[in-house]
Amino acid sequence: MGEKLLQHKHCRNCGKAVNIDDKYCNDRCHDEHFAMLRKKRNQLYLLMILAMGLMAITVLLGM
Ligand SMILES: [Zn+2]
Repeated sequence: MGEKLLQHKHCRNCGKAVNIDDKYCNDRCHDEHFAMLRKKRNQLYLLMILAMGLMAITVLLGM
């Protein structure tokens, strides 16, 4: 058990201990994590577009 504790990682999605070679405890966690990353990225894009729109409006109003 000591060896197992020394060489393990945590699932990137649920945090469960997984084999050192694995990133996720199962395929579902892998899919869920990627879906979450995609969602986060989309939110970031949306925020950037909103910020740019706000900046454009500010510049247009300033003219
Ligand atoms: Zn997991």
